Amino acid sequence: MLYSYQQQHYMKFLGIVKKQLKEHGIAEYRANQIFKDVFHNGIDTYDEMTTLPAYVKDFVKENVPIYSIVPHTENNSDNGNTHKVLFTLEDGNTIEAVLMRFEDGRNTVCVSSQVGCAMNCRFCATGTLKFKRNLTYEEIADQVLYFAVKMKKEGQRVNHVVYMGMGEPLLNYKQVEKSIDLLRDKTALHIGSRNITVSTCGIVPEIKRFSNDFQQVNLAVSLHAPNDRIRNTIMPVSKQFPLENLMDACREYTEKTHRRITFEYVMLHDINDGEKEAHELARLLRGMLCLVNLIPYNETAIKKIQGSSSKRINTFKSILESNGIQVTKRVSLGQDIDAACGQLARKQ
Ligand code: SF4
Repeated sequence: MLYSYQQQHYMKFLGIVKKQLKEHGIAEYRANQIFKDVFHNGIDTYDEMTTLPAYVKDFVKENVPIYSIVPHTENNSDNGNTHKVLFTLEDGNTIEAVLMRFEDGRNTVCVSSQVGCAMNCRFCATGTLKFKRNLTYEEIADQVLYFAVKMKKEGQRVNHVVYMGMGEPLLNYKQVEKSIDLLRDKTALHIGSRNITVSTCGIVPEIKRFSNDFQQVNLAVSLHAPNDRIRNTIMPVSKQFPLENLMDACREYTEKTHRRITFEYVMLHDINDGEKEAHELARLLRGMLCLVNLIPYNETAIKKIQGSSSKRINTFKSILESNGIQVTKRVSLGQDIDAACGQLARKQ
């Protein structure tokens, strides 16, 4: 089988495509036309590429797929800010990705890195799907390309990517690494390193590796508890990598990269959202170059866990702030379209 179109171009293998076209009696410059249509003109079907004659279209349609993933179900939130897509993979598995448009101009795509997830966090819909396999770097990057092409048609671009969808990215390190390289390719999507964020539930050795390999890429850590006792009850990974080791690895990241680390903290009623926990978290993070992102819980039907009230979230936030910790409260987009990770795929 031929390399997919994207792989050849992203990896600067344009020459290989040209050679293949040439072998079939097709002029090499057709590869450039296709590339320009996809990445610069936002056209992702060969039929719409008016510069291509019929015999070229027939060849590429048959041999050079533009995407390695196929959209299956699409949902838009009522306010139009969130667009979630369930994609089918070549082996029939499904994954999901979300485009979020923020008022400050950020157009962020949240990508999946695995089919299902082995981490089994108690509050997460993906955790119930069971791990099936790692995604390839093409399958990861194509989630971004899909939305990027759509936005191009509107005269806009995807400018941020977060690895916060299905799966634990650092357990698929090699493919995630390659997908980041694709996204940063200046000739294609050209997403800046500083606009890419990889989120982990706390795989300590891989955080250390990430600190060495990606000094410009942002790291987010799903903390969700200020101590091992609570963390063990909601995140099984913490039994393998206790908080002390995790915080050491996080400090190493900030020291090496001089970049602020984001700690994600999902607000769960009566589990991790009390004043006591807020003070404990403030002590844990004292002196660190960090930001805490409080996440209102998107309640799922399968988990009998309740999200914290706005009042409790605000109190928690004030305690952290009064201790000198930088805090944001995540804007909850798209609750009406099952935007919590794994919800759409689970329905499928
Ligand atoms: S929160 Fe992330 S790491 Fe935990 S089960 Fe869900 S997808 Fe996996």
